[in-house]
Amino acid sequence: MSGRMTIVSVRPRVVATAWLCLGLLLAVCIPSGSADAVQLGESRYRELKRVLVLHSFGREFRPWSEYARSIKAELERQSPWPLDIQEHALLTARFNNPGPELPFVEYLGSLYQGAPPDVVLSIGAPAARFVQRYRGKLFPDTPMVLTAVEQRLVNRGDLTDNDVVVSVRNDFMAAFDNILRVLPDTKTVAMVIGASPLEKFWIDEVKRELKPLGDRVGLVWYSDLAFEEILKRAAKLPPNSVLFWGLMSVDAAGIVYEGDIALRSLHAVANAPIFSYQEPFFGGSTVGGPMLLTEDTSRKTVDAVMRILGGEKPASIKYETIEFGPPRYDWRELQRWSISESSLPAGSEIMFRDPTTWETYRWQLLMIASVILVQSGLISGLLHERRRRRVAEVESRQRLAELAHANRYSAVGELTTSIAHELNQPLGSILTNAETAELLLKGTSPDIDEIRQILADIRRDDQRASEVIRRLRSVLRKTPFEVMDIELNDTVREAIGLVSAVADGRRIALAYMPASADLHVKGDPVQLQQVVLNLIINAMDAVADADMKKREVNVSTVRAGNQAEIRIADTGPGIASADLGSVFNPFFTTKPQGMGMGLAIARTIIEAHHGSIAAENQPWGGALFTIRLPMIR
Ligand code: ADP
Repeated sequence: MSGRMTIVSVRPRVVATAWLCLGLLLAVCIPSGSADAVQLGESRYRELKRVLVLHSFGREFRPWSEYARSIKAELERQSPWPLDIQEHALLTARFNNPGPELPFVEYLGSLYQGAPPDVVLSIGAPAARFVQRYRGKLFPDTPMVLTAVEQRLVNRGDLTDNDVVVSVRNDFMAAFDNILRVLPDTKTVAMVIGASPLEKFWIDEVKRELKPLGDRVGLVWYSDLAFEEILKRAAKLPPNSVLFWGLMSVDAAGIVYEGDIALRSLHAVANAPIFSYQEPFFGGSTVGGPMLLTEDTSRKTVDAVMRILGGEKPASIKYETIEFGPPRYDWRELQRWSISESSLPAGSEIMFRDPTTWETYRWQLLMIASVILVQSGLISGLLHERRRRRVAEVESRQRLAELAHANRYSAVGELTTSIAHELNQPLGSILTNAETAELLLKGTSPDIDEIRQILADIRRDDQRASEVIRRLRSVLRKTPFEVMDIELNDTVREAIGLVSAVADGRRIALAYMPASADLHVKGDPVQLQQVVLNLIINAMDAVADADMKKREVNVSTVRAGNQAEIRIADTGPGIASADLGSVFNPFFTTKPQGMGMGLAIARTIIEAHHGSIAAENQPWGGALFTIRLPMIR
């Protein structure tokens, strides 16, 4: 019962997946031949094309190896057909005494019997000669592209309508002109060239072509030396010598040099610059100059192969002989041999230049520059802001000073009685003393000692009156905010001196309890006195307004940690708790004639001194104002 239940519960999605798997399995098992047939019908470009590449000395022999590499890469890139490139190397060209070629011919014959390649591509003169010679036997009807053949080595007699030639020209005169242009003091050119039959051919050609140079330079031939010996000589060349790298396939000792090892080891030991006319040798060892460019040969060769594979008749494909390309120089070699860039021909290209710091670290430098730019922008912005703030601060201090001055005048109005009293007292005594002295002088024997005493009293009273006026002047002086080191006990005492008479007049007990030690703060004494005066006048108003039994204002100074405190307490009604937060606001007043600016100015002054001011009610009644200022010692 449970088994049946399971079958029924199989979901439709699971069934679909099973069908898909079966389908895939069938698709994999269907014979591939039928699929190919369908594809072949789709496009003629599915047809495989076979290209036989024949190398002259070996697959890794420079410069031809580089031509072959470039040609193959381009063929594969451009071909719309799938390509089968088969490479063979004609090793016989290496031997100083050519060996029998027939076994190689038979080997190729059996490889391609009945299925010749679509194109035969020979690279270098020996390979061209070989394919021309054995065409009839191997590939009688196959089109051939004979590339990288020096035009002097093209075997024109054996060319057929089925051949395309991509020839080059070794312009030795141009190569030597270049040497004498960049190093005009050159006396000797050591010719590095091997001993294979091809290389021997070139020795004669170079000699013939350079005849017009006459005795301008001496040529030294290394062709009959083993490469080891060449290296030794290259290390000890006389001054004003250069090395000319012709070709080094096989040296006089029969040793074969593949790749660029030989040139590299020569470069490592040579005490003179090396010149060549082949791009594959350029870049690391040679100075440079006009040279045969790999790309020029490769482009024409690939063009020829493509056109032949596309069905064009080889006879209709013709190319001009490839000449040296525009001169190129290796910057590192120019530096090493102190060759000035100004001596190079116009249109020269200088390669392998060491990147400048800017080129190497461009992004980093750009980042740093932008960070610096942003930073300097920020700094100048901040400086501007700071300047603006300074100006604003100066302006606000000036306003504060002006406001404080105006406020002092109003305070002085309140002090008139006090001042009058303070002045009246000494002036009154002066008058009395002067009158007494007059009376004494009228007598027959005036008491000189007493008169002297009276005059001393007059002088003392005069000084007292002058002191009152000095203090009044100093309070009313219109000064800018001026910070100095002050002793707070004295500053407060002086302020109290100005109002004590008022307190007396109003029958208020004004007491002062200074701190036992000096309190040094930084501040403007006039401004601080004004604050204290204001607070005392307010306190006196508070005790006077209400009909208080105790009419006291107690001023004291104390040290609290690093701060100096001035406390002004009174026995008035205190501040209504709802008003405690507002008393320092401008224009807050509970007095009919009040302006409500006194405490606002007081707070501004104290804050400008980096201090604080607070108002509270004492538990036993009356208000307490506390000023705190930072001490300097
Ligand atoms: P004004 O004296 O012109 O009113 P102030 O700014 O000096 O201006 O004072 C603001 C208000 O603070 C006063 O009107 C008063 O209500 C209150 N006040 C200041 N000092 C005292 C004090 N010692 N006791 C009670 N109230 C006070």
